Amino acid sequence: CAKNHGRGVHRFFEPVLAAQIRDRRSLEHDLRHAVERGEFRIVYQPQMAVDSGTVVGFEALLRWQHPERGAVPPDLFIPISEETGSILGIGEWVLRETCREAASWEKPLRIAVNVSAVQLHAPGFAELVHEVLVVTDLSPARLELEITETALVRDPVRALATLRRIKAMGVRIAMDDFGTGYSSLSNLRAFPFDKIKIDRSFIRAVDVNRETAAIMRAVLGLGRGLGLPVLAEGVETSAELAFLGAENCHEAQGYLLGRPGPIAHFVEHTREAQGAADAA
Ligand code: C2E
Ligand code: MG
Ligand code: MG
Ligand code: MG
Repeated sequence: CAKNHGRGVHRFFEPVLAAQIRDRRSLEHDLRHAVERGEFRIVYQPQMAVDSGTVVGFEALLRWQHPERGAVPPDLFIPISEETGSILGIGEWVLRETCREAASWEKPLRIAVNVSAVQLHAPGFAELVHEVLVVTDLSPARLELEITETALVRDPVRALATLRRIKAMGVRIAMDDFGTGYSSLSNLRAFPFDKIKIDRSFIRAVDVNRETAAIMRAVLGLGRGLGLPVLAEGVETSAELAFLGAENCHEAQGYLLGRPGPIAHFVEHTREAQGAADAA
């Protein structure tokens, strides 16, 4: 293929391309060892009931601290780890860590864990979920797996079979980033979702943008019709939250309500209240 290009083009691009390929290879390599080297940590972002304003659960979000590169964002390293397959080990680590963490909370709050298409389609994924629940002694109803629509298109028959087995354990399934996939509506009908997480692009300025508001109302109507709660992602302003409250959106998550952080930042939510405040 390179032979078809002019010699000058070839000479010009080669060093840049070679550097990019080297960089990518080194990331792939480092990702394969990041779990054992202890470079990952999990941050937690609260999910809130809109009507009561109370925290009902947390989403677990993965962070990679690379020894030389510093913090590498998940939108960069998750796709690479999916291509090389290292997401399987990484995702298993996330599942074990988060279930163990959630099982230690005094309050039986939900823990939402992102699951990649590669994990969902890997043989033994349902068994892994079951094993982790048994080992950590976490009640299945407290675990929610977040799955994007794009994760379903690879092999819908297999994905459906796996989701059904996981659901049969009592684990909940949320459709993540709703509205950004290929065929959101047919996916809602075909797969056993328990919740719709509407993508944050539909929340941005929902209080002032008529089109965004119309879409948001339609999704909330859809949720009501299907009996599925809707969670709004990426809520950043109190005006956006007020809109969601007025439209009876069930749950919200976003920087306004809490940025992802170490679980230690949120202990007051995971512990039962004690003392005088409790009796009041
Ligand atoms: P996601 O599952 O849709 O997660 C929500 C993303 O939105 C997170 O980005 C979160 O930090 C960000 N976010 C939350 N509230 C706000 C807000 O008010 N404004 C804005 N602008 N952003 C907000 P993050 O942590 O960078 O994660 C990006 C994506 O990486 C996630 O999207 C998810 O698809 C993936 N990811 C993260 N952790 C994991 C994991 O453990 N496993 C897998 N398979 N994917 C993961
Ligand atoms: Mg998510
Ligand atoms: Mg999302
Ligand atoms: Mg996302």
